[in-house]
Amino acid sequence: MNPLNSLNFSGGPGALPESVLLQVRESVISVPGVGLSILGISHRSDWFAAAVGECEANIRRLLGLSEAYHVLFLQGGATQQFSMVPASLLRGKSSPADYLHTGYWSGKSLPDARREGPVRVVWSGEAEGFRRLPGDDELSFSPDAPYLHYISNETVEGLQFHRVPGLDGVPRVCDMSSDFLSAPCEAERFSLIYAHAQKNLGPAGVTVVIVRDELLSGAPGDLPGFLDYRNHVEAHSVFNTPPVFAIYVVLLVTRWLIDEIGGVANMARINRSKADLMYGLLDGSDGFYRGKAAAGDRSTMNVSFNLPRAELEGRFLAQALAAGFSGLAGHRSAGGVRASIYNAATLAAVEKLADFMEHFRLRHA
Ligand SMILES: *Cc1c(COP(=O)(O)O)cnc(C)c1O
Repeated sequence: MNPLNSLNFSGGPGALPESVLLQVRESVISVPGVGLSILGISHRSDWFAAAVGECEANIRRLLGLSEAYHVLFLQGGATQQFSMVPASLLRGKSSPADYLHTGYWSGKSLPDARREGPVRVVWSGEAEGFRRLPGDDELSFSPDAPYLHYISNETVEGLQFHRVPGLDGVPRVCDMSSDFLSAPCEAERFSLIYAHAQKNLGPAGVTVVIVRDELLSGAPGDLPGFLDYRNHVEAHSVFNTPPVFAIYVVLLVTRWLIDEIGGVANMARINRSKADLMYGLLDGSDGFYRGKAAAGDRSTMNVSFNLPRAELEGRFLAQALAAGFSGLAGHRSAGGVRASIYNAATLAAVEKLADFMEHFRLRHA
C-alpha cells in the first residue's frame, strides 16, 4: 500500500483505514460475491438494498439507536442540511430556533436558517475569535424554540463539546460531521443528527442523517421532493439515484469499526490517546506550539495551533510535507497548522507526527 496514506492528517476529505482502502481497490474492479465493479452496480439491485440495510443496522448498533429513529443516506453534504433542517422545522414558525455560533461552520449554518424563519443566537464566540465554547452558566435556552441547533465539533477551530447542551424538552439538532462515530454520543438525546462522510466516515458524496420519526410529522407539505425527509424515509434512501460508491465505503468503515476496532467506546479510547499525545506535546513545548482552543474545549479530532511566526509555520509545513506528512495546513479561513486525527489516523501515525514536531522544535526554538 501507499505509505503516505497513513500520514494523512487532512481536515477533509480525510484519511480512511488501510484495510478499507484495500477492499475499495478490489471493489472498483469486482465487488466480492457480485462480480461487478462498485461503480456499475444498480441502486435498484437486491445487493444494494442489502448494503444500505447493513450500513443502517451497523450505525444503529454502534450508537445504540432504537426504532424511534430513521437512518438516512442523503446527498448535498452538511451544507444541504443547513437549509433542509430549517425548511422542515422552522418554516412558518413564530418562535425562534436557538442556534449556537461557536465557529466557522456554525456561522455557515445561520444564513440558511434565517431564510426560513426566526433565529436566536443564544451565544456567539465570534468576538473572542472562537477560542472557546460557552459554559452552561452562559447559556439560557428557550423552552419554546422549535429546536436547538449546534455543532458538536468545530472542525476549523478544533473546539469540541464534551457534554450535551440544551433543554431536554426541546429537540436537539446537531451537526456531527467531524466527530461522528468517534466516541459514544448519547444519540437518543438528539432529535436529528447529521454528518457528511468525508471527515470521519468515508468519501464525500453521502451524508448520514439520523432523525426521530415524530420530528417529521409537522414538516410543511409543499417542500421540494428531495428536501422532504419523509420521502427519503419512505424510499429507504433510494428516492433517486444515491451515491452507491460512497455508501458502500461507509458500510466498509462501519464494519471496520465493529470488527477491527470493537465499537465506539474502544474508538474513543484510541482517539483519547492520540489527542492526549498531541496536546501534551503542545503544552510541553514552552510556548513554541500554541494551541488555539481553550484547554477544556479541545477537540479530539482537530488539533489547531500556531507557531511563533508565520515564516516558521511555512517552514514547518514544507518540512512536514517533505517528511511524508500531508494535510497539515490550517483551514483557508484560519491559517496556522491543523492536525486532523480522525478515526482512521492510527496512534502510530500520531506518534510519528509528534516525533517530527519535537525534532522541529528543538531545531528552531
Ligand atoms: C466540513 C464541515 C461542513 C461542510 O460540509 P460539506 O459536506 O462540505 O457541506 C459542515 N459542518 C462541519 C462540522 C464540517 O466539518
